[in-house]
Amino acid sequence: MLENIWFPTDKVFINGEWVAPHDGQTLDLLNPSDNTPLAKIARGSAADIDAAVSAAQGALEGEWGRTTALERGRILTRLGDLIKTRIDDLGVIEAHDVGKPLTQARNDAIAMARYMEFYGGAADKVHGETIPYMDGYTVYTLREPHGVTGHIVPWNYPMQIIGRSVGAALAMGNACVLKPAEEACLTALAFAALAEEAGLPKGALNVVPGIGAEAGAALSGHSGIQHISFTGSVGVGEMIQGAAATNVIPVTLELGGKSPQVVFDDADLDAALPFLVGACIQNAGQTCSASSRVLIQRGVYEKLLARMGDSYSGMMVGKAMDDVNVGPLISARQKEIVDGFLAQGADLRLVAQGTIIDGTPDGGNYVVPTLFADVPPDHVLAQKEIFGPVQVVIPFEDEAEAIAIANGTDFGLVASVWTRDGARQMRMAKALKAGQVFINNYGAGGGVELPFGGYGKSGHGREKGFEALYGFSVVKTVAAYHG
Ligand code: NAD
Repeated sequence: MLENIWFPTDKVFINGEWVAPHDGQTLDLLNPSDNTPLAKIARGSAADIDAAVSAAQGALEGEWGRTTALERGRILTRLGDLIKTRIDDLGVIEAHDVGKPLTQARNDAIAMARYMEFYGGAADKVHGETIPYMDGYTVYTLREPHGVTGHIVPWNYPMQIIGRSVGAALAMGNACVLKPAEEACLTALAFAALAEEAGLPKGALNVVPGIGAEAGAALSGHSGIQHISFTGSVGVGEMIQGAAATNVIPVTLELGGKSPQVVFDDADLDAALPFLVGACIQNAGQTCSASSRVLIQRGVYEKLLARMGDSYSGMMVGKAMDDVNVGPLISARQKEIVDGFLAQGADLRLVAQGTIIDGTPDGGNYVVPTLFADVPPDHVLAQKEIFGPVQVVIPFEDEAEAIAIANGTDFGLVASVWTRDGARQMRMAKALKAGQVFINNYGAGGGVELPFGGYGKSGHGREKGFEALYGFSVVKTVAAYHG
C-alpha cells in the first residue's frame, strides 16, 4: 500500500462513517504504469447506493439542511485549505491511480482546492430576484437546492471533476452521492476524508465506489435522487439520461469531444505551437476537452506541421512517477481501443511519434504520441473521440471551409481560433459550435470560473463558474397578493 494513503480504501463512506460494502465485495485497483495491484476498493452495490441516498436525505432533513449559505461556504473554504495541505500526497496517489505524470496529477489537486475556494466564496452570493408584477403583488424568486444529487465521475480527472461537480452542488446546499470510476477512485475517498475533517455534516457527502453497471446504474436510476451529473462516454450518457427520464429529474451530461483548433495564415505560430500540441497530449490524450484536431490554413500548413512534428519527436513517454511528457493510459482496455484507432490510421500520412524512455516497464499501458496529417475530415480518426495521444491535422483553404470542418463532427465541447484579424476572431467565435471558444489560446489555465459544457453529443448543462451553481439549484417563484 502506498504510504501516502491515510484513509481506508476498501470501504464506502456513508453518513460520515467508513463502512464495509453491504455485500463485502472488493475490486483490485491496478497501477497503470505497470499493471501491478495498487489497492483494494469496495465494490459498492445497489444496497450501498440505497443507504447513501437515505443518508443524503437524512442530511437534508437534519444539520446540513439547516446550514446557512455562509457556513456552507466556510466549510468548502476549509476543505480547500485542507486539500492544499495534502497536495503532495494527492499528487502521488493520483499519479499511481490514473497513471498521469506527477506534475499533472499535482496540478489536478491544486485545481480541486481552487474549486473549493471558488465555490466556498460563491455559496452565499447566489441570490433570487424581485419581479415587478401586477398591482397588489410582491413577487420574488428563491433559489433552492435540488435535494439529493448523484455524481458519476470518470477516471481521467477525478479530482477536477469532483471539484467542479460536488463542490458546486454542496455550495448550493444539495446532499451528494458520489460514484467514482472503478479504474481510479482513491482521490474520491481522500476527498471524503478531508470533507469530514473540514466539518461537513454527516450525510452531506457519501462516496460509493463500484462498477458502473452496478453501483452507477443503481444511482442513476434511484427514485430518491433529484439531479444526476455524469461525465464519461456518450453511450453511458445516453443510458443515464434514459434513467433520469424515468424519474423525471434534470441531468447534466459531459460526454467528451473532438475539439478543433483553427490556425489561420496570419496567426502567431510561436504562441500557438505549445497549445496546439499540449492541449492534445496532456493526460495522454485522455481529456474530454483534448484538442485532437488541428485545422491549418494552406499558407502555413507545411511550415507549422513540421514544427508540430518536431514537438512530437521530442515527446517522452514513461511511468507516471518519471514525470515526463506522457504517462500510460488508464487500462489495458483503453490501450486496446487506442491501438485499434492507430491501426485504422495505417493509410494516413504519419508525421511523427514520441519515444518510450529506457526503464519503462513492459507491463504498462503505453502508447506513443502520434501525429497524422492530411487527414480527410470524414476519416474515423477525425470524427471519433480516441481518448489517447493521437492528433490529426487537416488543411483548409478559407474561413468557410474551416467552419464547416470544425463543426463537422457529432461533438462541440471546446474550440479555438488562432488569428490576428479581430473581425475574423469575432466571426469565428460566433460560428463555432462549442461550449467554449478560445481566441489565441486554448484551455485558459483550467478555468474554474469559466462555464463549460457541450453542444451536440458533447452533452448538455453547464459546469464550472456560476453557471454550475444555477444548474445545481432550482428556482421557486413566490407571488404574494397583498392588495
Ligand atoms: P464510462 O462512460 O463507461 O465510465 C464513466 C463513469 O460511468 C464511471 O464511473 C463508470 O463506472 C460509470 N458507468 C459505466 N457504466 C454505467 C452505467 N451503466 N450506469 C451508470 N454509470 C455507469 O467510460 P469508460 O468506459 O471509462 O471509457 C470509455 C470511453 O468513454 C473512453 O474511451 C472515452 O472516449 C470516454 N470517456 C470520456 C470521458 C470524458 O471526460 N468525457 C471520461 C471517461 C471516458
